[in-house]
Amino acid sequence: MLGPMQTLTNPDVVVIGAGVIGCSVAWHLATLGAGRVLVLERGQIGNGTSAMSSGILRTHYSVPQNVDLALRSWRFFERFAEHLDDPEASAGLVRCGYLIAVPEGDKVAPLRESLAAQAARGIAVELLDARAAREKLPIARFDDAALIGHEPDAGFADATLTATSFARAARRRGVVYREGVAATGLAIEGGRVRGVLTHDSGAGVGGRIDAGMVVSAQNIWAHELTKWTGLPVPLVAERHRVLALAGPAPYTRAMPVFKDLGSPGMLYGRSYGGTQMLVSEGTAGEVLATPDTTQGEVSMDLVAHIGEQVAARFPGWEEAALASSWTGVYDVTPDWNPVLGPVPGLDGLIVAFGFSGHGFKLSPAVGRVLAQAALGLPTDVPLAPYALERFAKGRMLSGRYGAGAVS
Ligand SMILES: Cc1cc2nc3c(=O)[nH]c(=O)nc-3n(C[C@H](O)[C@H](O)[C@H](O)COP(=O)(O)OP(=O)(O)OC[C@H]3O[C@@H](n4cnc5c(N)ncnc54)[C@H](O)[C@@H]3O)c2cc1C
Repeated sequence: MLGPMQTLTNPDVVVIGAGVIGCSVAWHLATLGAGRVLVLERGQIGNGTSAMSSGILRTHYSVPQNVDLALRSWRFFERFAEHLDDPEASAGLVRCGYLIAVPEGDKVAPLRESLAAQAARGIAVELLDARAAREKLPIARFDDAALIGHEPDAGFADATLTATSFARAARRRGVVYREGVAATGLAIEGGRVRGVLTHDSGAGVGGRIDAGMVVSAQNIWAHELTKWTGLPVPLVAERHRVLALAGPAPYTRAMPVFKDLGSPGMLYGRSYGGTQMLVSEGTAGEVLATPDTTQGEVSMDLVAHIGEQVAARFPGWEEAALASSWTGVYDVTPDWNPVLGPVPGLDGLIVAFGFSGHGFKLSPAVGRVLAQAALGLPTDVPLAPYALERFAKGRMLSGRYGAGAVS
């Protein structure tokens, strides 16, 4: 239960969007003493793109700032209920580890260097030979692997459960959530955001809501900021397909998440429901003209295309049956990394968009640094590398793997 209906006038901070990022921001605002916090959500809590997430958690990145955010987030996920001070809170964490493998080629060096950087950061990582990798994931073959990395402190969790758990804990600390209320603009005076304009849907909120600070956590709908403020929002909405396959042997929850950098689609896979394999491609998806999370088609051609790659890695899985499928939309920036923090020339606004298919694993730490930024506090991790201006200034945040969801 999320708690009783509450009302709130004159908030100190308004958060737009109650996905896993907005919910994390709101909870961190409450714990950092932000005062009155109001969250506006056009739909339902956790029901945007977070609801379609594959939920994989790892600290493996080649961009050092991402490693930092992911590590801080992992530590939060590990003791989620304790941090939220709510014994019933759960992120649905499954700590099964993360395997990442490459054949000979241009990704060997990025993998080796990224693993070394993780180790230098104090993260437990190890190199495995093919036999040791098969012991962890006996349904796969590794005979073509030139390098296999293993991160034991990794796995997957549930993004919607995480969002609603943050929301419940935040409500207990006085944060007010309004579902079914869309922000339709920002009140801007003297070069500063002074509040939010809303569409009154009958949920008790409407018109102009004054606030000292506004945090936009709108994901693919962050384009609205351009209409409201003129800010450039370099974002592409990309639809991705996810399959759940029932194979000849179970993909158990004890088996690690697997990233196959040798497959054409840079596949990732994990256990789904304890027996099936959740699988999807890590390459670019279908570009949508407008942000839209309605389900797209998962054609049999696409199923066959992914199925062939699965069968090449998992012997016997050419006979796997398609158990279910769905689509989800990434908010992709030019360097596949998010935009976080204040924006140039407009005080009173903090933005978070462009998570490019890897925002869930960063959500606890991102929520904290954004709350810190909104309150004018020093941030745990410098936000300058994630600044919106980086695109205009040619300071892309690209790592050893280049643009893509590994980052
Ligand atoms: C298929 C898929 C697989 C993924 N797999 C992984 C993974 O394995 N690991 C990982 O770390 N990440 C993964 N991601 C990415 C991760 O799930 C997202 O980065 C994260 O969930 C985004 O959270 P969010 O809060 O930014 O967005 P959302 O959950 O989309 O929330 C944004 C909210 O803002 C609301 N909103 C927008 N505009 C307005 C407005 N004007 N007024 C009111 N409300 C508004 C929307 O209704 C929405 O609820 C995946 C994503 C997809 C789609």
